[in-house]
This record gives sequence, structure tokens and C-alpha cells, in this order.
Amino acid sequence: DLRIPKIASSIRVIPDFPKPGIMFQDITTLLLDTEAFKDTIDIFVERYKGKGISVVAGVEARGFIFGPPIALAIGAKFVPMRKPKKLPGKVISEEYSLEYGTDKIEMHVGAVEPGERAIIIDDLIATGGTLAAAIRLLERVGVKIVECACVIELPELNGREKLGEAPLFILVTSD
Ligand code: 5GP
Repeated sequence: DLRIPKIASSIRVIPDFPKPGIMFQDITTLLLDTEAFKDTIDIFVERYKGKGISVVAGVEARGFIFGPPIALAIGAKFVPMRKPKKLPGKVISEEYSLEYGTDKIEMHVGAVEPGERAIIIDDLIATGGTLAAAIRLLERVGVKIVECACVIELPELNGREKLGEAPLFILVTSD
């Protein structure tokens, strides 16, 4: 796909953010490139349209940028998977481990129904901990995960091994 190299080159890498030694993949420059942003959304839409997907689950925060335009274009609802204590209604939550300590993601009770088919969207997969927690959360309420989709994969961290049966689709590999 000839669109992929342009998407890849629109992503900026910022060394030592948020701490020394981290090469941060900054997708805000992709958003400034109208062609790269449109192509990114189009590729996901071409892949998921007409596949009986009724839920696009987006992981806070950058899954909230890519998820909604995909949801609108494929005729699915958008479900935010949020950091703790952000959602006002009753929630279910899933914990996952970080380098130091743990974090959680939450989803509103009643946002999805058992038997629905979902894709989970985030900008990037690193260790896979965040997506794995999102998968567990949706599977607990009986939702089928058709696929996880990210713009960028950091392959050295083997994040995809944490996703179990759920396939992973990515546009750009960063090494
Ligand atoms: P994981 O749980 O796979 O280790 O980390 C993935 C999560 O951390 C995603 O929600 C992603 O947005 C964020 N993240 C980690 N590293 C980066 C990075 O270099 N760039 C961006 N944009 N997000 C990152």
C-alpha cells in the first residue's frame, strides 16, 4: 500500500520523552498532514466496513482521535475506554501492570451488549498491556474482539504476544 510510507514519515520521533531513553512516537504531526491523516482513517475503514462490527472501542487518549472517525464511517458506535475516575456513570474496570505499579482502564456499564463484535483502536502498541486489558474488559461482558488496530507497533517489546487470540493490525513498525 503506497499510502503507508507517507503515513510513516509523518510521525515524528521525540527522544527522551517523557523520560530519558524513551524515543516517543509523536502522532500529532500525522494529524497535521491532511493526506496522511485521511489515508490512516481510510485504511482502517476499508478493512472494517461491512464486517458486522457494531463497536469501535477507543483507548484513552489517542484512541479517542482515531476511533471516532472510523466508527462514523463504518456505522458503529464509539465506546471510550478511559483512565480511572473519568467516567461519570457506573463502570467496570480492568487492571494492568506497568513498569512500576499498575494502572486501570474503565468502561461504562451498558455501553455494549453481549454478542456484539468490536474492534479496539489505539495509536501504538508497546508492551501490549493496555490492549490486553481492553480485550479482557470487553470479553468479560461477552463482546467478540474481531481485531485490535494500531497505527504503530514497537515490535521489540513483543506486545502482540499478550493479545491472546485477538489479531493485531498495524500500519507502521518502528524499530
Ligand atoms: P503498552 O500498554 O502497549 O505498553 O503501551 C501502549 C500505550 O502507551 C498506548 O496507549 C500508547 O498511546 C502509549 N504509548 C507508549 N509509548 C508511546 C509512544 O512512544 N508514543 C505514543 N504516541 N504513545 C505511546
